[in-house]
Amino acid sequence: IFITFEGGEGAGKTSVIARLQQELAAGGNEVLVTREPGGIPIAEQIRSIILDRAHTMMDERTEALLYAAARRQHLVEKVLPALNDGQIVLCDRFIDSSLAYQGIARGLGMEQVWSINQFAIGDMLPDLTIYLDVAPEVGLQRIANAAGREVNRLDLESNDFHQKVRAGYLALCEKFPERIVKINAEHEPDVVYQQVLQHIGRFLNN
Ligand code: C5P
Ligand code: MG
Repeated sequence: IFITFEGGEGAGKTSVIARLQQELAAGGNEVLVTREPGGIPIAEQIRSIILDRAHTMMDERTEALLYAAARRQHLVEKVLPALNDGQIVLCDRFIDSSLAYQGIARGLGMEQVWSINQFAIGDMLPDLTIYLDVAPEVGLQRIANAAGREVNRLDLESNDFHQKVRAGYLALCEKFPERIVKINAEHEPDVVYQQVLQHIGRFLNN
């Protein structure tokens, strides 16, 4: 089963995934936790190109293609083998990030970004996508308070950019109500986690 986690900056994806990994593994499941862009050497290298603060001139299409390239390699090299092996794959970001960030926030349009991603992943959509929804002000405040967080090119974006990312995600929730579950991630971490668990539990038991 392939589960992806989505959200804007400071939504809490990484913490939720870490907790889930522990709980699912303790329950005897084989769990693979991974992230995008990255998760394997080729894709981690692409990640550092994309997120390098020096690359302020990166063209939007170049960016979208690099994300799609990293996604392809990560899928083929890591995600598909784990799924074939019967593991539960928990992935921090996937195609919906590209649709929201590059498609909506960068203005490339969902259709164009969808089509290059289709080239990259074929029909390998997640079984379930957890979207952690937070207002950008809340998420950005959390990041500002978090120690040791990676500094990246996105830190230079405006509040307006992050609002567009959120609008993109909300549009995706409407478009794929069966696949994407929206969770209010402004609640306390425990509350958010329990809600995530409920959705995943329901999914695992069918
Ligand atoms: O989720 P994570 O913090 O690792 O993402 C790294 C950065 O890449 C974030 O700042 C995120 O907003 C950005 N990103 C992006 N477009 C994507 C995926 C991630 O701008 N498609
Ligand atoms: Mg994170």
